[in-house]
Amino acid sequence: MATQRITDFLATRRPNGPCLIVDLDVVRDNFDGFRKALPDSAIFYAVKANPAPEILRLLASLGSNFDCASVAEIEMALNAGASADRVSYGNTIKKERDIAAAHTLGVSLFAVDCVEEVEKIARAAPGARVFCRVLTDGAGAEWPLSRKFGCVPAMAIDVLEAAHRLGLVATGVSFHVGSQQTDTNAWDGALADAAHVFRTLAERGIVLTLVNMGGGFPTRYLKDVPTAKAYGQAIFAALRRHFGNRLPETIIEPGRGMVGDAGVIKAEVVLVSRKSATDENRWVFLDIGKFGGLAETMDEAIRYPIVTARDGDRKEPCVLAGPTCDSADVMYEKVPYPLPITLTVGDEVLIEGTGAYTTTYASVAFNGFEPLRAYII
Ligand SMILES: *Cc1c(COP(=O)(O)O)cnc(C)c1O
Repeated sequence: MATQRITDFLATRRPNGPCLIVDLDVVRDNFDGFRKALPDSAIFYAVKANPAPEILRLLASLGSNFDCASVAEIEMALNAGASADRVSYGNTIKKERDIAAAHTLGVSLFAVDCVEEVEKIARAAPGARVFCRVLTDGAGAEWPLSRKFGCVPAMAIDVLEAAHRLGLVATGVSFHVGSQQTDTNAWDGALADAAHVFRTLAERGIVLTLVNMGGGFPTRYLKDVPTAKAYGQAIFAALRRHFGNRLPETIIEPGRGMVGDAGVIKAEVVLVSRKSATDENRWVFLDIGKFGGLAETMDEAIRYPIVTARDGDRKEPCVLAGPTCDSADVMYEKVPYPLPITLTVGDEVLIEGTGAYTTTYASVAFNGFEPLRAYII
């Protein structure tokens, strides 16, 4: 939802063109919500969700740590005031020279999901701590992360053993239950896998200490989602179930859940038309689409709330599309989006819940459209 601060900003500044406005007060509230929901877990903000310097500085000042996927993201976290010991290099796919650069910057916590990556870290960041990512099925997630990251638990055991053998600190297990995870129990299976890896390695004399429980915490789009507190309770119960009284250190890496609902995109209707005299659905073209920052509408996965000044009028389903000359730039067609029948060229629309995964997904200059501008207030 547009907060009063966002509404006031739009009314007084009247920014031109599509833009994202992020309310830092909401980010602060979300951080506090996570801290209260999982008081014993360290928070590593997933920088990729929104790396705006103002957001990183706020989170650094609140005591957040940072999950980074590249050397550039590590530098952003350090520039925001985090020390290197508060940074995790959480991408399982890294160039050896980037591992070396991170090591030089002082980072000593790395994600792996195979022996080949362990070998790179042993060479480029000797003595570092590594955690091994295990696969999850992503069930219950609206933006699942598929099989690209992680390995099966049986392999994680070998990977961590190899790390230990090569002089690294085999520190634990990580997983990600899929982004926009609406099932609070989704962590249970992965924590069972993590506990199995802990037990098996303990039998071989390797004591793991850390479970990185990843992100996945949702933003409210069109449907209600459980509260951070509900996630905290379900996750804590699952930790107890699988680790008993010997709870490991834990990390969470919220991205979407930290910033998604803090942002609103202001956009404009460029055209309303039909494809034939008998076309059931109007086509509504906005000045923002898949290439302007709304990439998560891919496969119509994420359905954003769209607010107009005419929402009191009758609504009919529309195909919603962006302004570029790529025919893939259609956001909602399989399931058309209900919008007021009075909606017309020049109308402003607010696309809510867009604080995460928008600015960084905007193309540089496709068709000459500039990347999504952001105002962090
Ligand atoms: C993207 C990512 C996150 C953040 O995920 P959300 O679903 O946005 O919370 C956390 N950890 C890792 C390793 C990631 O790649």
